[in-house]
Amino acid sequence: MNEPVDAPETRYVHAGSDPRRQGGYVNPPVHHASTVLYRDVAEMDASQADPLKRGGPVYGRFGTPTSRAFEEALTELEGGHAAVVTCSGLSAITTTILAYVQAGDHILVSDSVYLPTRRFCDSLAALGVETEYYGPTADGAAVARLIRPRTRLLYIESPGSTTFEVQDIPAITAVCRAHGVATIADNTWATPAFHRPLALGAGVDAVVHSATKYLTGHADSILGAVVCTEESYPLVRGAAIRLGQCAGADDVYLGLRGLRTLDVRLARHQEQGLELARWLAGQEGVAAVLHPGLPGDPGHDLWRRDFAGAAGLFGVELDPGLGKPDIDAMLDRLRLFGLGHSYGGYESLIVPADPVSHRLPGTWAGRGPLLRVHVGFEALADLKQDLRAGFEVLLRGRAGYRVTDLSGQHT
Ligand SMILES: *Cc1c(COP(=O)(O)O)cnc(C)c1O
Repeated sequence: MNEPVDAPETRYVHAGSDPRRQGGYVNPPVHHASTVLYRDVAEMDASQADPLKRGGPVYGRFGTPTSRAFEEALTELEGGHAAVVTCSGLSAITTTILAYVQAGDHILVSDSVYLPTRRFCDSLAALGVETEYYGPTADGAAVARLIRPRTRLLYIESPGSTTFEVQDIPAITAVCRAHGVATIADNTWATPAFHRPLALGAGVDAVVHSATKYLTGHADSILGAVVCTEESYPLVRGAAIRLGQCAGADDVYLGLRGLRTLDVRLARHQEQGLELARWLAGQEGVAAVLHPGLPGDPGHDLWRRDFAGAAGLFGVELDPGLGKPDIDAMLDRLRLFGLGHSYGGYESLIVPADPVSHRLPGTWAGRGPLLRVHVGFEALADLKQDLRAGFEVLLRGRAGYRVTDLSGQHT
């Protein structure tokens, strides 16, 4: 490893990088690897060491120089002890949860989590693990009331998927530590560029990532990672080995390459996202914009305290009266905003979102239909013009709606 460096910008460039280890080339080779050949039996015997100890190479599934470089870089950026790369964000989540739970345990999960995370937690009932959802605005005292003798784990996603509530991680982790409850945080939205839950307050026990999103950053790979403390690492690495977790060589390489420009890309996503969020908040047909970076957002104060910035992903609540046919027509009209899942790439995206069907009653107070917007790197004037054309279609039936000038003169 190079000498530790402090300035964040420098860390993105040099974290986990050691050109001497790879013949002087700046980037590590992409190791497509299963078998590792030994010189003789003595060397083979010596390598049979516990893969947790990360001795010499053993077998491709346990990692390669490429995956190790990615893990080391992400560990440094998150301020962790060690990381485990997995084949997807969801697999990073499921592996980490399985590392902790056994039959009879109770786990607390934020009601605003990514829906496939929720589906997995619900499926744990078949293994004798009970999942209880907590409202994402719960404070430390509310969380303390939910902890039982068999509560093993609390799972945080902040801001929440689709509805973007910000959680009080220092208060929640302090309560959990006092009760011996482990905490996991999904940091996919903010990335270590803007938020480092391992270092926040008492600190969480593990940070999980869908590296598919901002870390890779170009919509060209599915990848996950878990960044651990010294205590959680053996548990998570052990679970990953038992479950056969690993990632493809090319995807790991793309993840590592994405990390090198993460802070630069996130700064631009933040700038464009905030500007478009403000603009959308002023448009007819928009009831609310769910973006913790906007003053007046319910999560804004916590976001200012615990985050260094905001990603380019936020929610837009439309007026309650607007119906699916008009919203569908609006989305079909958009030329630059792609209609598709995921986010974190260079391109702008929009999808309808439905938090109501699976949430606890009362934790989502919105009344209008929701859209989720990801702001990419297109010129803001072009993005606004695209949306203006969409609003024309959305509001065409509304009396008195003014047809705007599509030349982009209005802002
Ligand atoms: C996309 C996403 C995941 C799942 O990641 P995949 O790489 O698609 O498996 C998990 N958590 C959050 C917050 C996500 O947005």
